[in-house]
Amino acid sequence: MAADKIIMHIDMDSFFASVEIRDNTDLKDKPVVVCSKTFHLHKDTARGVISAASYPARKFGLHSAMPLAEAKRLCPDVVCLPMNKTLYKQVSDNIIKIIQNHVKTVQQVSIDEAYVLFKDTVKTFDEAAECAREIKKEIEAVERITCSVGIAPNKSVAKIASGFQKPNGLTVVHPEEVADFLSPLPVTKIPGVGKKTSETFDMMRIQTIGDLAKADKRQIYEKLGRQGMAFQEIANGIDVSQVMETADVKSISRFYSFNPYTNDSSAVALGVESVSEEVHMILMQKRMFFKTITVGIRYADFTTLTKSKSHTVHTSDIFFLKRHAKDMIEELMANNETNKKIRQINIGVSNLKKTDVNQMQLTDFF
Ligand SMILES: [Mg+2]
Repeated sequence: MAADKIIMHIDMDSFFASVEIRDNTDLKDKPVVVCSKTFHLHKDTARGVISAASYPARKFGLHSAMPLAEAKRLCPDVVCLPMNKTLYKQVSDNIIKIIQNHVKTVQQVSIDEAYVLFKDTVKTFDEAAECAREIKKEIEAVERITCSVGIAPNKSVAKIASGFQKPNGLTVVHPEEVADFLSPLPVTKIPGVGKKTSETFDMMRIQTIGDLAKADKRQIYEKLGRQGMAFQEIANGIDVSQVMETADVKSISRFYSFNPYTNDSSAVALGVESVSEEVHMILMQKRMFFKTITVGIRYADFTTLTKSKSHTVHTSDIFFLKRHAKDMIEELMANNETNKKIRQINIGVSNLKKTDVNQMQLTDFF
């Protein structure tokens, strides 16, 4: 029998705020927020959005993505600091190096978050927890900030586990505990379930992850499509996505096979729709933006046509992806004079870029 996979998710605790507080001990125990864009300390002219809130600030209800004006209203004594991206990036790089020293594979997913695969010598969850403790200790000793860690048999559960006991947490979920761990948690704890999706779940009377796990599959698909199905899989403790070394991700592509082969444009459009959603979901999981779209058609006789188009700005907009992919596939199909049938279409994105610090809080999917 193959050994269970052991995956760790590491998430720095209110990262930007922690770095600021570490460098200015006067701020310790004060409600501190780090803000994007310009800001003014006068209540009436407060501008900008919170990027990170210290734990004392969170006690007032402040959180990332909250407009500063609202934060000032809830907590008039809040200390607002501007972003110091260069510093945060430097600290982040140092932390990643520390982690890399202890493990086999590190997939950094944002400036303060990474998935990790352990070295082959780590064979049990207890050994993994021991390794996590060493990493936490070293980060705290060298960078003087804390992180929270989740260890689980797959990425989604590891991510949920790292958020389970914040700050400075270490949560281990053994394979046989996954169902009991997930089931009472609110469905919004699933990475990627945002406001809109949770409203849909609400209407379906799905409140906990356990509710979602048991929900009617067909109904989920009707309301939320393939993404809903993916959420349900996660609710059932299933997530086969791999931890990939960050530098490896240069492009993302998926194909769709027609059975039977077809040249019906509406069938092809449905295929484009579905495969675009799949590509988009991976982009979201990896927190990446793309600039280039590549599409391909493979005909029944295996002749293959491809087309590639680069756009001027990076985006992660699913409607943009769908629309352009559809147009490009249609352009390829227009050359099909002999009316051959299509066996497969392919849609890919490349020229990828990690979501940067500013965009991260606005599209905080995970
Ligand atoms: Mg964090």
